[in-house]
Formats: sequence, structure tokens, C-alpha cells
Amino acid sequence: MAKNSLRPEILDAATPAAAALAVERAAALINSGELVAMPTETVYGLAADATDDRAVARIYEAKGRPSFNPLIVHVADLKMARRYVDFSPLAEKIAAEFWPGPLTLVLPRKGDAGLSLLASAGLETLAVRAPASPLAQALIRISGKPLAAPSANRSGSISPTRADHVRDSLGDRVGLILDGGPSAVGVESTIVKVDGDRAILLRPGGVAREAIERVTGRRLETPERLGVEAPGMLESHYAPKARLKLNVAKPGADEAYIAFGKHDGAPARVVYNLSDRGDLVEAAANLFAHLHAADRMASALGLYAIAVAPVPNEGLGEAINDRLKRAAAPRGNDGKTGRQDSA
Ligand code: AMP
Ligand code: MG
Repeated sequence: MAKNSLRPEILDAATPAAAALAVERAAALINSGELVAMPTETVYGLAADATDDRAVARIYEAKGRPSFNPLIVHVADLKMARRYVDFSPLAEKIAAEFWPGPLTLVLPRKGDAGLSLLASAGLETLAVRAPASPLAQALIRISGKPLAAPSANRSGSISPTRADHVRDSLGDRVGLILDGGPSAVGVESTIVKVDGDRAILLRPGGVAREAIERVTGRRLETPERLGVEAPGMLESHYAPKARLKLNVAKPGADEAYIAFGKHDGAPARVVYNLSDRGDLVEAAANLFAHLHAADRMASALGLYAIAVAPVPNEGLGEAINDRLKRAAAPRGNDGKTGRQDSA
């Protein structure tokens, strides 16, 4: 990342003319795969084009997250959200009532919609939200992109509700901060997972449980009741169907191999490389796409396992290894492991 003492640029959007210019500049950055900190009514988000694996990988790099949590993808409205997820009638009812606003829906993800798999950490569901903040709305509309955005702070520090919080936490890891003044809500969005006609409260936040229950006409289910420790700790994670072996320097001929760095994968015949130049940001960007592809091939060809090369445990490598370990863990405790770094 370029070290430039003028970074981050903070663009004030206090007047309509300034806002229009600032958003145009921010949209250009988004469309060239860069990160932009944007105000939302909940907290400031660190936004990237959710259709661009590398841009999404940069979010994790900038935050210094030791794990790939699935991110919330921000859209303009229900119509745009329909490109990426399937709405049951209940999900549609909740969105119609609370969007735009501080409510996130976790819904079945459409497989063919061109979103980065890294944005949802390889899961078959996707968290989507239409923010109310006019600047966030403008950035989505002008860039024309769905925006993956966790809170715009380094991992482990508190969520930013003002532009200067973002600058203090991320420094030159973000090029541009859109300054929309203090966040109106100031806490994270409420997250509700809708599975057909069931609605589960995954995280309390800016919309009260009671308000949602008035719309659905029944109690929201809670993760505790579902046998999971606490909201915010509900973590489902991607796991391939095939057996996954880690830290394999030399694969077998009957395995699909996911290499890292210079390696032709022989004697394996099905070989993917996370990054042949050994670049961890590129590796992160490719991780879930390669796992999915290897899994499909393993199943089609009846291969014995997917073997993954050792990945250095530094920079984004730590998050890559964390996810690989979870993906390789014995089944049967899905949704019960790991702590969240929620925005
Ligand atoms: P943040 O972006 O930091 O506000 O965190 C987003 C929250 O949404 C995290 O707690 C995630 O685990 C949760 N989340 C995002 N996508 C999903 C999903 N597909 N299923 C369950 N939880 C999700
Ligand atoms: Mg956070």
C-alpha cells in the first residue's frame, strides 16, 4: 500500500455540491478496487466493491482481522438486493418495513450473481442491508456497486461514529474518508436471519426486537434457543464436502491440490494456486473460490481429498489459516465455534 502523508483524504460533504464531488471521487476509487470509508447511520463502514475479490481482501488487510468474518453487503434498496439474495415473503415484509435503515437480513445467496465469495466467507447465505445514510446511498448508486463494508476500524478497536475516529484507527490504510458528520444511530445494525418463514435474531442493534416482532406478528427466535452460546457468537462457516487436509507440501495423485507460491502441484492433476507469486492478499481473494472449485472437482472425479499447501501465518495468512482450520474441522458443531469481531 502506498505510504503517502496526505492519506487519508477526508472529504467533507456538508453542502450538496461538496457531497456530489466527494461521492463522485469515492465512486471512482470503489470502481478501481480501492477502499473508501463511508458514513452510515449505524457506524462508519470500510467499503469495497463486493463483486471484486481483491478489493474485499483489502478490507481484511486494512482491518488486520485475524479471521474472515462474513461481511454485510450494502445495497440501495430491495430491488438491488434481489440480484444477490432470495427473499421469502417474510423477508420481503421485514425489508419493506425497515429499509433503508439499521437492519441487516441474512438470506440465501444467489449462486450466479457475481458477488465475491470472500464477502460472505464462502457461506451460502449473505448479509444484506440498505443503509439510510444519504452519502452511503449516493455512493452505492453512483458507483453502481454493492458495497461490502464492516466497521471502519482496526480489528479489536471500537466502532467509529465520526470521520476522525476512522482516521485515528485506520490511518493511511484507507485512501478516502467521506465525512458525513456523526453517525445518527451510532450502534451496529440489528441482524436477522430469515429462513423461509423463520426469523432469528443474530445480533441486536439499531432496530429494536419489539419493532420487528410487531411486523412479523411473532417472537423472533434467538440463537440461545437454537443451542448457540450468545448473539454475536453465532458463527457458521464454510466447509467443503470433501475431506480437507492442511499444510500439505506434497499432494497425492488422488487429491485436488490448492497450492501457494511456486508449485506445479504434481502429481496431483487438479491443481489451483492461491497465488503463484506468494502474495497473501491475492491468496485471500482466491481462497473461497478455489475451495469451492476444488470441492466441485473432487466430487465430480471422486477424488480422495482436497490438500492445501502451507500458508505463511503472517499478514492475511493468519485469517486464511483460521478459515482453513475451521473448514477442515470435524463436522457436527457448525455454528458453535469461534468469537466474532463484529463491527
Ligand atoms: P460487521 O460487518 O463487523 O458489522 O459484522 C457483520 C456481522 O454479520 C458479523 O457478526 C457476521 O458474522 C454477521 N454475518 C454476516 N454475514 C452472515 C451470514 N451469512 N450468516 C450469519 N452471520 C453473518
Ligand atoms: Mg468491528
